[in-house]
Amino acid sequence: MGRIVAIAVGICLCCSVAAQKPAPKERMQFGRYSADNAAVMESGVRPDAVFIGDSIFECWADCDSLFFADHNFIERGISGQTSSQMLVRFRRDVLDLAPRAVVIMAGTNDVAQNEGAIALENILGNIESMCEIAERHKIRVVLCSVPPAVGFRWRTGVERPAEKIATLNGMISGYAAEHGLPYVDLHAALADEHGGMPAKWSKDGVHPNNECYREVFEPMVYGTLQRVLHIKERRTEKRNKTSKNMIYPIVVYGSPVLRKESVEIDASYPDFKKLVEDMFMTLTEASGVGLAAPQIGKNIRMFIVDCTPWGDENPELADYRRVFVNPQIYERSEQTDLFEEGCLSLPGIHENVRRPVTIRMRYLDENFEAHDEEFTGLPARVIQHEYDHIEGKVFTDHLSPLRRNLLKGKILNLAKGKYRCDYKTK
Ligand SMILES: [Zn+2]
Repeated sequence: MGRIVAIAVGICLCCSVAAQKPAPKERMQFGRYSADNAAVMESGVRPDAVFIGDSIFECWADCDSLFFADHNFIERGISGQTSSQMLVRFRRDVLDLAPRAVVIMAGTNDVAQNEGAIALENILGNIESMCEIAERHKIRVVLCSVPPAVGFRWRTGVERPAEKIATLNGMISGYAAEHGLPYVDLHAALADEHGGMPAKWSKDGVHPNNECYREVFEPMVYGTLQRVLHIKERRTEKRNKTSKNMIYPIVVYGSPVLRKESVEIDASYPDFKKLVEDMFMTLTEASGVGLAAPQIGKNIRMFIVDCTPWGDENPELADYRRVFVNPQIYERSEQTDLFEEGCLSLPGIHENVRRPVTIRMRYLDENFEAHDEEFTGLPARVIQHEYDHIEGKVFTDHLSPLRRNLLKGKILNLAKGKYRCDYKTK
């Protein structure tokens, strides 16, 4: 209820910017989300994406708050804001939340001259600045086009807005292409022949209606974020309901089972095939790429790896699902690289970890047949992460003492059960 009221006021504000100049100290609206931001930081959960924009994002969260909650996305639109205002609050409303990605939609209120006239070059400049700041903080950027509009109810008299929006979008998409950033072309998906928002999608010709958010915005933006963040489609609904497989709850950091060294097993291990199937089911359900037995409470030396979520960009990984029993890594390359890791047992924590690029490992497969194999790239990365688990280690053990110290609060929260994730844990 509180949320709905706030949004309704938000929309009105946007329409009355010209008539009522807000008090100077509130101009950037730093306070608008300060309590919500503090709650996100306190939760210790790293958002997958923050959406910064104006009322078009703000109304989206009002229309479908579950879209944001279900996907661990945070909406930070402020009605009436221009790109200059978004740039200024980027630190508080985006950087402070340390999201994995930021979705930027800016320009409607610039073209509407809410803060006075601004050249298209300077709108683009603000967007570029936001992208560069995000890059500096290792936050992936998704750029959105400015949605179509042939006019603005709250500011009549702006000359040829549809044309300006089209030109600005050309500049934004050009910048995106030049810098390899994903660009979500909502304008192309929505605009009518006059460059306007059809009545089918909008009541006022600017703000999308609920159908527009659900049918156009959500699939387009989510599809892009899925690619950018390697989010695997949750397969819960598609799963055969009569399946006898079980989903294990995942052990979260703080449990001693994650700190114990695991023991070797042999072919007499009871119901091993079923265990492997259940672990793959558990991993898919949690949208992960690797799962070690200690993470489901079993201190045995085995883990599974599923690199198929990376299959789109790495065709050689399209079928990469492997089982490793009693593995022994006996060679590690001198060459190392940095890669952002997360762990199902440490929900919400993602950190760059340096590891050898290539390893050699002896192991048994799911049929207890012996192999001696070299692994490199992404599989080597996942294998080393899972191998840590059977040695009683976790990926944060590899961070510098300084970095670990910074994460202390978040890690303590995990042990206290203060975290949020969308899979079963214990
Ligand atoms: Zn892990």
